[in-house]
Amino acid sequence: MKYAVIDRGDALSKSLAEKFHQLAVEHGFVRNEEAPEIVVSIGGDGTLLQAFHNYVNQITDVAFVGVHTGHLGFYADWQADELEQLVRMMATETPRIVRYPLAEIELETATEKCHYMSLNEFTLKGVDGTLVAQINVNDELFEMFRGDGIVISTPSGSTAYNKSVGGAIVHPSIESLQIAEIASINNRVFRTLGSSVMLPKHHHCDIISKKEQRILLTIDHLSLMHSDIKSIRCCVSSRKVSFVRYRPFTFWNRVREAFLGYDASGERKE
Ligand code: NAD
Repeated sequence: MKYAVIDRGDALSKSLAEKFHQLAVEHGFVRNEEAPEIVVSIGGDGTLLQAFHNYVNQITDVAFVGVHTGHLGFYADWQADELEQLVRMMATETPRIVRYPLAEIELETATEKCHYMSLNEFTLKGVDGTLVAQINVNDELFEMFRGDGIVISTPSGSTAYNKSVGGAIVHPSIESLQIAEIASINNRVFRTLGSSVMLPKHHHCDIISKKEQRILLTIDHLSLMHSDIKSIRCCVSSRKVSFVRYRPFTFWNRVREAFLGYDASGERKE
């Protein structure tokens, strides 16, 4: 099996990455950073986001597995002390492949069109003040937005930034995009829906800049600043990201453990 490892860069993550390479040799795995079949992320959710973007251009050919060296992550579900068990299972078991939807945008500026994919979300924020944008759904005007920003999240990203701005948590089997507001202005003059909306796979949404403005575009953990954005078209990507699962850990159990702190017996952990 061809594999690559990406670690967070701290001492524990680096030493686990070294240990993984040693165990991998013993099990006959082949280290191949250019064309891996499995990418092992060691660190946290941020490390997995980085791993995703490193391999985004070959996303249909790779599958990810995450080892966390801090708190339980949404994408990193193996603990540091389970590394040997993980490698053993990678060598002997056929994993279940879980596929999650991704979001895709086409960004049009005064000079070019570029495409990006995200695992968690895209956000748009006004840099110098209020973001002013027209939002169209399926080529028809939906609303005029004024406020701090807009979050366009995937189902697996719905537990991240989207949740902080009051968006719903969406199971990753629902192929959709969620558009949530960050501090929209609502009064007698300006009006937005105020709640988040979910678009199904076959719908698209355009966010059209309505003034000369500097806009910060974030793509998961990455940020780009633009002063000439004309519009952004958002849709559910035709590609998906794959995770290898050697043991079950359902999405709802992940949500419960991460946000509510209950274990399977109903006890609350601090
Ligand atoms: P970070 O180190 O600031 O991490 C933010 C937190 O988000 C971490 O606790 C991480 O575990 C958690 N997280 C990441 N993906 C998640 C997911 N899908 N579900 C639940 N929690 C998740 O930043 P980073 O590591 O560079 O990660 C970037 C992510 O941080 C962005 O994709 C965004 O979702 C999130 N973020 C959240 C807020 C907010 O909630 N107000 C603000 C900025 C960024």
